[in-house]
Amino acid sequence: MFEPTKAYADMLDETDPLRHLRDQFSIPKQANGEDELYFTGNSLGLQPKKARENVIEMLDAWQKYGVKGHFEGEYPWLPYHEFLTQQSAKLVGARDEEVVMMNSLTANLHLMMVSFYQPTKTKRKILIEDHAFPSDHYAVCSQLTHHGFDESDILLWQPRADELLYIEDFEALLNQHHQDISLILLPGVQYYTGQVLPIEKLTQVAKQYDITIGFDLAHAAGNIELSLHDWDVDFACWCSYKYLNSGAGSVAGCFIHQKHCQNTELNRFAGWWGHDKASRFKMDNNFIPIPTAEGWQLSNPPILSLAAIRGSLETIDLAGGISALRKKSEALSQYAFNLLDGELSDDIDIITPRDKNARGCQLSLMVTNNNIDGKALFNELEARGVTLDWREPNVMRFAPVPLYNRFSDIYHFVQILKTCLRS
Ligand SMILES: *Cc1c(COP(=O)(O)O)cnc(C)c1O
Repeated sequence: MFEPTKAYADMLDETDPLRHLRDQFSIPKQANGEDELYFTGNSLGLQPKKARENVIEMLDAWQKYGVKGHFEGEYPWLPYHEFLTQQSAKLVGARDEEVVMMNSLTANLHLMMVSFYQPTKTKRKILIEDHAFPSDHYAVCSQLTHHGFDESDILLWQPRADELLYIEDFEALLNQHHQDISLILLPGVQYYTGQVLPIEKLTQVAKQYDITIGFDLAHAAGNIELSLHDWDVDFACWCSYKYLNSGAGSVAGCFIHQKHCQNTELNRFAGWWGHDKASRFKMDNNFIPIPTAEGWQLSNPPILSLAAIRGSLETIDLAGGISALRKKSEALSQYAFNLLDGELSDDIDIITPRDKNARGCQLSLMVTNNNIDGKALFNELEARGVTLDWREPNVMRFAPVPLYNRFSDIYHFVQILKTCLRS
């Protein structure tokens, strides 16, 4: 049974089957030499030691082989992205042919909209949520402009007063506007509240009206279990530097459902890396797309970044994959709820849903006591070795991640938070 004691937190750590994984990561230090209490894996995951090793291995290959590195060594560059496919596909519940690591997240969203936003004069609206991450909002707006439309063709799914999105409101929107909607683009996990959206259910509703639906999985990949193929999602994109720990700006992921990726007639923006592998170096001008997600690649990819991703995926494999991580994540966040509710509910409201199916790693802590300056509190926590992130107007995002966070990290954080609130 839960107890708000250090002994209880230590017991949870001692009996945690994944506790050894923390040693696979480099943990930033405070000025006093102690480990930071790092809870921003939702923004930038920590460095897996294997990522560093694999990047150095690729620097060495470059040093040793020069251009021949495309073909030589244990991990030649020409097919390097293929070394990531199987594990990436498993992570998002896809077939191997449906997944490719390429470009960056926003670039991939644009590439997907080139293929999957096919408006007509009357059916041309794009449905997103009202608090979509700004980059997604900008991308959608600029796609509308590109087609000669404007922002009035965005349809917004509004959260309710508790900041959360309700599927009933989504159903009502579709019921009313389905004739006008060409594309739906939604997050898997909402970045501000940490709410996990019911991807399968949303997709079913979209399919009832024959509307294309894609997901931004920036906060979902590496956080929650996904079955994109079985759920019949049309496309999805995610970055690899949040819960996938592959370094700032590292290469992103893209999923295109089998029923679409085999269709070489689909409209797309093309580049030589998406061209048929057997004839790529014939250098003729007749583009033949690879009949898999790889057919959307543009350029030969940045190998150092892919090497970091390979190290990160190997580390997730050591954990036993996403289902084992998710199990620990649920326990971590339940523990955090218990501790915060018991000790701090007068000053802080957790806006993230309590239902474990509707939350991932991240808890969003809203400072509700008007006598407290939230930003000053955040700064004070940082000075005491707690790394969170701040979202205006009054939310601290706090993400204990199962790969490297401990139950006792949460315990210490809450003690420090209590001290700060009392002073
Ligand atoms: C982190 C994040 C991004 C960032 O986009 P980049 O293209 O990787 O810079 C975009 N959308 C969402 C929802 C995010 O959470």
